[in-house]
Amino acid sequence: MPRRLRARTFRRVDELLAKRYGEKTREAREPLDTLIRTILSQNTTDLNSIPAFERLKATFPDWREALEAGPKAIERPIRQAGLAPTKSARIHAILEQLDAERGDLSLAHICDMEADEAWEYLGGFKGVGPKTIAIVLLFDCGMPCFPVDTHVFRVASRLGWLPEAPTPEKAHDTLRDAIPAELYFQLHLNMVQHGRETCHPSRPDCHHCPISRFCEAYRNGEVETDE
Ligand code: SF4
Repeated sequence: MPRRLRARTFRRVDELLAKRYGEKTREAREPLDTLIRTILSQNTTDLNSIPAFERLKATFPDWREALEAGPKAIERPIRQAGLAPTKSARIHAILEQLDAERGDLSLAHICDMEADEAWEYLGGFKGVGPKTIAIVLLFDCGMPCFPVDTHVFRVASRLGWLPEAPTPEKAHDTLRDAIPAELYFQLHLNMVQHGRETCHPSRPDCHHCPISRFCEAYRNGEVETDE
């Protein structure tokens, strides 16, 4: 982080974004569902990944049915999410590994682990990276993680919250260490929404941005705004 940011800055940004995009409340779900849902969301939009997850659950209401049907059968219902052969192989490999290790197709036990242990455990599944791990641990277990997707990364970079040339891991650690833990869930979701609706990759709508006064890129004239 280029300069020291105060907790009250994050609190103010959280308040302003919540005013624009709404307050968010965490509802824990089965972590395996969140993991699979997040794998489906990789490299696509919610518009594609949410219906794909719903179709997958409608086809296989019990994950054991998906395990027994095999990766090819998982491909069909998730096709809308794209990269179906890769994603179905990953989902099936996770189900297989859980079945072999625990005989139980659930990840509820990770919420009883220490955060570092749970992080390492989820990282042991193929195709599961820092963003996905942080989402599962924060959303379902309430663990201290700050998921950094493409929107959070862009918004945080423009605000001046990230160091020079951060890797995804570095971005996660920097934001987790700087942001007060009680803000993680709502601030993450509202930064995603802000990135989608206002702080676009090109020509962000800075003139209607509720947090422009906190934005380093805007202050320094580094963004070409939408007039
Ligand atoms: S001022 Fe512009 S660049 Fe900065 S956060 Fe707002 S929309 Fe994004």
